[in-house]
Amino acid sequence: MVLKLEALQPPGSFKIRGIGAACEQYAREGKKRFISSSGGNAGIAAAYAGKHLDVPVTVVVPETTSSRAIEVLELYDAEVVVHGPSWAEADEHARSLLDSTTAYIHPFDDPLLWSGYATMIDEVAQSGIRPDNIVLSVGGGGLLCGVFEGVQRNGWTDVNITAVETIGASSLEQSVRAGKQVELAAIDSIASSLGAKKVSEEAFLGAQRHNVDCIAVTDLEAVKACRRFLTDHRVLVEPACGAALAWAYKDDSMRLRNQTTLIIVCGGATTTPSQLLRWEQSLEEAER
Ligand SMILES: *Cc1c(COP(=O)(O)O)cnc(C)c1O
Repeated sequence: MVLKLEALQPPGSFKIRGIGAACEQYAREGKKRFISSSGGNAGIAAAYAGKHLDVPVTVVVPETTSSRAIEVLELYDAEVVVHGPSWAEADEHARSLLDSTTAYIHPFDDPLLWSGYATMIDEVAQSGIRPDNIVLSVGGGGLLCGVFEGVQRNGWTDVNITAVETIGASSLEQSVRAGKQVELAAIDSIASSLGAKKVSEEAFLGAQRHNVDCIAVTDLEAVKACRRFLTDHRVLVEPACGAALAWAYKDDSMRLRNQTTLIIVCGGATTTPSQLLRWEQSLEEAER
């Protein structure tokens, strides 16, 4: 197995590759402000990009956002507006603040993001590695679309893609099974970065065109994988990333040991070791 470490960027995840590229483009088009509704890594990447481009950033987040996330956003001088009980209300409020000089930074459904994410596949190709299988986590499918673009432009047409979600956030898996885009009634997972009720149309269509296996793991498997990865590699990631790692740690993934598997370690900026431990304990409690 080969790890693509996307957890070490200053804003903590691969998101800066795409959100950073999008923010650069919107700044070139003359936008004077960025607005995001993500209290997670997308918002953090937008805040980081805005700070470096000297463009003010507003991030509207729901009341459920952790104080740790708000702290990280403010570290990059973003204006944080707390609004509404869930992401839907925060997002609606964010969109109501848009005007002609403000760019809305979508957390996953923007081709500028996908082109940015595809650069991670370019880097793997440039390093001389040609995987048979690429394992990644899927939320709204932005990273997945980036991987599609990356494998396409590097001519890796026969590579297998393993798309991992948590069971309570498996919008891609359920859509692929149903043969149409499914919208989940609710998200039931601690992997908040995977909490898109519906994946983008491009991600859904891409999953029909490419060799994609959809896998769903439990929250507990994802958290345990984060803790094990921290011990094994001394890199802290969040449960959304732990979902892909859980696949790698599953015994039956050993059947692929003769293949080259690339695991995208997509990172996460807001998790702490003590939080991982608390999640693991309460999830184990709930299983008993
Ligand atoms: C954004 C994110 C994801 C999911 O990405 P999508 O593009 O929404 O599919 C997974 N893990 C982490 C750590 C993320 O930040």
